[in-house]
Amino acid sequence: MIEVSCLLRLEGVTKSFRANPNPVEALRGVTLEIKAAEMVALMGPSGSGKSTALSLAGLMLRPTGGTVFLSGEAAPDDERGRARLRNSFVGTVHQSYAVIGDISGIANVEIPLEYASPRLPRGRRRELAREALGKVGLGEDIYSRRASSMSGGQQQRVAIARALVVDPRLILADEPTAALDGKLIGIIMGLLRDACKAGAGALIATHDERVASCCDRSLTLVDGAIV
Ligand code: ADP
Ligand code: MG
Repeated sequence: MIEVSCLLRLEGVTKSFRANPNPVEALRGVTLEIKAAEMVALMGPSGSGKSTALSLAGLMLRPTGGTVFLSGEAAPDDERGRARLRNSFVGTVHQSYAVIGDISGIANVEIPLEYASPRLPRGRRRELAREALGKVGLGEDIYSRRASSMSGGQQQRVAIARALVVDPRLILADEPTAALDGKLIGIIMGLLRDACKAGAGALIATHDERVASCCDRSLTLVDGAIV
């Protein structure tokens, strides 16, 4: 029985990818837990499996072996159940931002709100999206700019606003400050800390000691295993 305050547990998770000439063992039996109100850094060299671990936790990939638990329950097998959890429980910041380039910053942030239950009126969605963009330090003048015309750092902040706008229980952020300078790193880490104080849990992949030092503890992956 897993405590319900445990938002995420990976238990003996392995993941191999088909590749030529040999399969890649991206994760080799990873066990980790994130509790409510806890902010945890996931460190390790490039290629050590950080993004794979976050994608498995966010139900974007399925493990080759082991189990992913969200809120104490094994992740569902069916795609509908997985999609429901992705929309309602998890907020994900992708390493490559994954913003939609041909729509505005504000329209990107409204996307997860369109799946909210109960349904939010259009005006409220816009208001929440504006608030979220303000919190990541973006000026009003760029809210309605096409995301593809934004700098990397601006796109990264749109991605962070989009992940946080739904107040997710579990935040999975993949190098969320890689394109940001020191002052913005402070702002973003402050936002993540506020979310955790309000009861969320966060797992943050990072190379940056400044980011890790803002977290409650750090885990390190080397060659697909926690060391
Ligand atoms: P990190 O985020 O720590 O840089 P990744 O999780 O992206 O590491 O990658 C871990 C290992 O898995 C790497 O060797 C990478 O090349 C491999 N890998 C990741 N995704 C795939 C994929 N879709 N197909 C094949 N190999 C992959
Ligand atoms: Mg990565």
